[in-house]
Amino acid sequence: MGRSCHSARAHARETPVRTLLKNLIALAACAAGLIPTLSLAAPIQLCIDQIATPGTDGRVLGHLPYGDALASDLVAAPPGFALGQCLIQRAAAVDLTRLIRATREVPEIAGTLRAVSCHRSTERQRAVFCGPVGPDKPYHNAMERARVVAPPGYSEHSTGYAVDFGLRPAPGCPDVDACISLTPAGRWLLAHAREYGFELSFPIGNPQKVTWEPWHWRWVGTSSKAPGATTARTIFAQARTSFPAKPAVVDTADSWLRIVRQPPNPFAPAPLPKPNSPTKP
Ligand SMILES: [Zn+2]
Repeated sequence: MGRSCHSARAHARETPVRTLLKNLIALAACAAGLIPTLSLAAPIQLCIDQIATPGTDGRVLGHLPYGDALASDLVAAPPGFALGQCLIQRAAAVDLTRLIRATREVPEIAGTLRAVSCHRSTERQRAVFCGPVGPDKPYHNAMERARVVAPPGYSEHSTGYAVDFGLRPAPGCPDVDACISLTPAGRWLLAHAREYGFELSFPIGNPQKVTWEPWHWRWVGTSSKAPGATTARTIFAQARTSFPAKPAVVDTADSWLRIVRQPPNPFAPAPLPKPNSPTKP
């Protein structure tokens, strides 16, 4: 039973007759399923000194919940790509390899693309997230930090489908900084990453209120029929519906639907009759 039904029941124990009747009616409506109820999410311990209660859509500090990838589903990224270690879902690795090969054909950016971060377990995410916050720290409070770092259990990196791209040599632009969008490689990603099944999870001005991350791309497959794409798209279904990526992977079928939805052009000439079709008088 949801929160609204619980509060109605609690009120009913100690209110006058009129309120009691109203609450009884509300309880009956709850029992009949007429009142949409809110889920009662239990508080969760993010860090030793931080507890948070998920919102009604499951988000914590703005981030959606994600489980850990199975170790058996993860493979190493192509040699030379990782700065340190980069494990990624096997299905995504195929397209990542194609993407890296494609960049080698572009003289301006050939050989510069690297992985700053790929799969991060929930425990690793906890270590990253649970640093100190305060007036003399990089982040003044947990909400400010959560705009940049997802809480443990709420990072796309734990799924094994997300990659943080960086550049070597670094062109005067540090890792995980929006300045990558101004570099030739960053611009290439914005123009072409979706051709390899990657989409930008946190676009500029996103309603999720996560900071703009032009380095963070998640894999969903070039089409729903691509091997492994259904699993990835199921995991990211809520994110893709509520907070769409941009650039986003758009299937051929989706493009076709968009064309159909375009309003008719009132100035377009009338179509000519087909050669063999009978003409009306
Ligand atoms: Zn990231």
